[in-house]
Amino acid sequence: MVDQKPSVPPIPPQVTGKVTPTMEQWFSLKNQEPDALLFFRMGDFYELFFGDAHAAALALDITLTHRGTHDEEPIPMCGVPVGTAQIYLSRLIRRGFRVAVAEQTEIPRKGQKGPLRREIVRVITPGTLTEDELLEAGRANTLLAIVAPDKRHRNRLGAAWIDISTGTLELLRLGADTLAELLARLAPSEILSDPTLIPAEHAGIITPSTARPGREAAERTVTAAYDVAQMDALGDFSNEQIIACAVLLDYVRRSQAGRLPRLAPPIDHGLDSIMGLDPATRSSLDILQSRDGGSRHTLFASVNQTATAAGTRLLAHWVSTPGTDLALITGRQEGWSWLHQHPQPTATLRDILKQAPDSARALGRISSGRPLPRDLAAIRDTLRAANQITETLGTLAGTDMPERIRHIGASLYGRADTLLERLEAALNADLPVKIEDGGVIAPGFDAELDRQRDLRDNSRRLIAQLQVRLAEEYEISNLRIRHHNQLGYVIEVPAAAGRTLRQHEGLSLRQGTASLARFSNEELTSLNQAILEASEKADQLERHLFADLAQHCLNTPALDDIGLALAELDALISCARIMDRGTWCRPTMTDGQDFALHACRHPVVEAALHEQAAHDTPFIANDCALPPEKHAILLTGPNMAGKSTFLRQNALAVILAQAGLPVPAQKATIGIVDRLFSRVGAADDLARGRSTFMVEMTETAAILNQAGPRSLVVVDEIGRGTSTLDGLSIAWATLEALHFQLRCRTIFATHFHELGALLETLPRLAACTMAVKEWEGHVVFQHEVRPGLAQKSWGLHVARLAGIPASVLQRARSLLTRLEKERGQTGQPASLPLFEQAETGPSSFSPDVPPPSVSEAPLPARLETLDALRHELDGLDPDSLSPREAHTALYHLKNMIKGLSEVDVPDEK
Ligand code: ATP
Repeated sequence: MVDQKPSVPPIPPQVTGKVTPTMEQWFSLKNQEPDALLFFRMGDFYELFFGDAHAAALALDITLTHRGTHDEEPIPMCGVPVGTAQIYLSRLIRRGFRVAVAEQTEIPRKGQKGPLRREIVRVITPGTLTEDELLEAGRANTLLAIVAPDKRHRNRLGAAWIDISTGTLELLRLGADTLAELLARLAPSEILSDPTLIPAEHAGIITPSTARPGREAAERTVTAAYDVAQMDALGDFSNEQIIACAVLLDYVRRSQAGRLPRLAPPIDHGLDSIMGLDPATRSSLDILQSRDGGSRHTLFASVNQTATAAGTRLLAHWVSTPGTDLALITGRQEGWSWLHQHPQPTATLRDILKQAPDSARALGRISSGRPLPRDLAAIRDTLRAANQITETLGTLAGTDMPERIRHIGASLYGRADTLLERLEAALNADLPVKIEDGGVIAPGFDAELDRQRDLRDNSRRLIAQLQVRLAEEYEISNLRIRHHNQLGYVIEVPAAAGRTLRQHEGLSLRQGTASLARFSNEELTSLNQAILEASEKADQLERHLFADLAQHCLNTPALDDIGLALAELDALISCARIMDRGTWCRPTMTDGQDFALHACRHPVVEAALHEQAAHDTPFIANDCALPPEKHAILLTGPNMAGKSTFLRQNALAVILAQAGLPVPAQKATIGIVDRLFSRVGAADDLARGRSTFMVEMTETAAILNQAGPRSLVVVDEIGRGTSTLDGLSIAWATLEALHFQLRCRTIFATHFHELGALLETLPRLAACTMAVKEWEGHVVFQHEVRPGLAQKSWGLHVARLAGIPASVLQRARSLLTRLEKERGQTGQPASLPLFEQAETGPSSFSPDVPPPSVSEAPLPARLETLDALRHELDGLDPDSLSPREAHTALYHLKNMIKGLSEVDVPDEK
């Protein structure tokens, strides 16, 4: 993703009356799309001028030249060949530019004066791509419009998004508070919106738009696009949704030079049946993309076994949008379980799918008016695959076929046979890349085309015969008949022979150069004419038949269903293949608050361990139970012991289960989770001016404000980014709130061993720890989760593993010994006043907490003093103190803790 959108330099002022007609045309087109780089077609090149040339030359690393002058200054220019323009386009688009493509839209006529007419035929932006070369096959390319239709209520938003390459369009009405979540889920390529509505981190993909049509105007745009009389015909949509949809469609139409691509009916994207996953949760779980921006070590990569691009996109959609609808989830489960139980036909189905091209994207290109011959072939091959799949499913008709599979079968069966027959008959086996290359339509499909082709090819044969005859007649062995761009077919001979030929009657000299001479005669001229006409007629006819076939595809609505059904079958087979591994299970999903994972694993870490050829260090599976009577776990253990992995694997299991996929566990029972919160691995957000601790607190606040009894919260190290006592207090209060107030299923990992005291007061809290062994002074992580609390931090062991120099480690060790001793003398942790309940009375949400014990200094004061004390101690270097300085320091410390009467002050004078 681009961080900042590159700006397109302004158009230079046009000096009236002093520009060439071609440059005048350039100015006029550029003014239509001032924010885009203008690819101006000149012959075999797209040329860029002025500031566009500077920007493109820099971005593409191509030579900047100049052509002519403007206002007495040379005009900067650079260009890219039309044949390889896609490569340059994709580089510019990836860098965040928009590109307007101006083509010559007029065929040159004899004697024509002035430049040919040029028009912008397309504005290419990241969200409006249709070309395979510019798109990622397995990823949806989403253009999103966000509109706040009411100026006074900027909190009420309408969202509309489309994948132009496939035509799917969805609408949503949302509040500003859920926008970040939507953006994280959709990961759009381009956002069309008023930039002030969109969080700053998306600045690089915003196309500013302040359009806000009224409801009536918006309805007109939408109904016209779908060719329906009333909006009701499309469904029941809110003002916000319709207005966003109109803004989106207007932009798409403009980008496609006034032509709308094929649109699937708009889908109302309700949020009710989607599990809540906020951006922080998404990024901490590496669902489709890992934190380093890659896609290899992700949840999706660990479960993706699809065979087609459309299947990949659908599975990615499932995984990134886990549902809460039990019926939908179990429907998918039944589908892949059945496939898993029928391995033989499933393997056949997959082999067929591998032959099925990406029909959704092919249809998208056909509807955009830029179909390629291979797009029609893609539809033909998809329909062939669909028929073969129905045949294979037919052989299993007597079995207990589940609903989803039956639905897939019904969507495929004989739905577009007429189209298939037509495409089978029409298309040649070997197809050229472009229709202009000819040879798309097979012989025998159209009698008139065959006749014109015959005529053209026969005339060519006649020309070959004529060449032999003339060479003999004039006794010039190297006489050739060649095709010349301007002159057509001509007799070509070396210059010396040309001098003899000039004497011959019936031959007229067309062109003479130093080395050769070109002639024609009447016979050649008429043959030339015949060839020209026949080949032009054949080309025209072929283009017409091609367009007709393309239209036939667009008029076959069943193609959408077929594409979807094939993608779904592919995604379900992918799940069945995961089950084939024998180590994944079908989770039992309930409407309750169950949570029991037996021998669960982290699929990404497991795969990474496998990849590193570390077969001798297998992944250690762990159980996790959060029954209503013990719905919270306090997880302690050293760094590197596997806490984060454990936290994440439980969250990932929920995502997979609610996406309807198998889960990497021996057994799993999960009550539907409405919102999942995962805070694992601290991060700062410098772009938005938020420190690590600020981010941590904002995210903690989000959990406390949004989680409920059906949520799952997995958090790591809350309160680590500030002073120990501040952090401990925050972690303490947060855990209490999660337990008493929100009552959500929770795994709370911490390094504050002191929180263990809460096991006494929070009845539904269980303690778990990561098992660690000490062996010959070394720490051995067992990656096993066991009941209990960690006894030790092992931080210094981990520091040594990480390569902290021995001298620093030694010093740290001696400091630790001292601090632990002092801590022991002060009676921590058990008698530290902090670990009593807050002094103001019982916790507001804690019916189970015992009455507080009274201490002398108020809690905040005690916390502050202890913190200051720690700070002082940290600053002392006993080895460098003189006896007198040590003595003074000790008194100073004693004075500091005077207010804490409960704390035992060591007397070491
Ligand atoms: P920190 O507190 O420093 O983040 P941590 O306790 O959260 O550490 P993880 O990051 O979860 O530790 O795990 C560290 C490494 O240990 C992982 O990268 C992985 O290689 C390995 N590991 C974790 N869990 C397991 C497991 N269950 N089986 C095998 N290896 C594991």
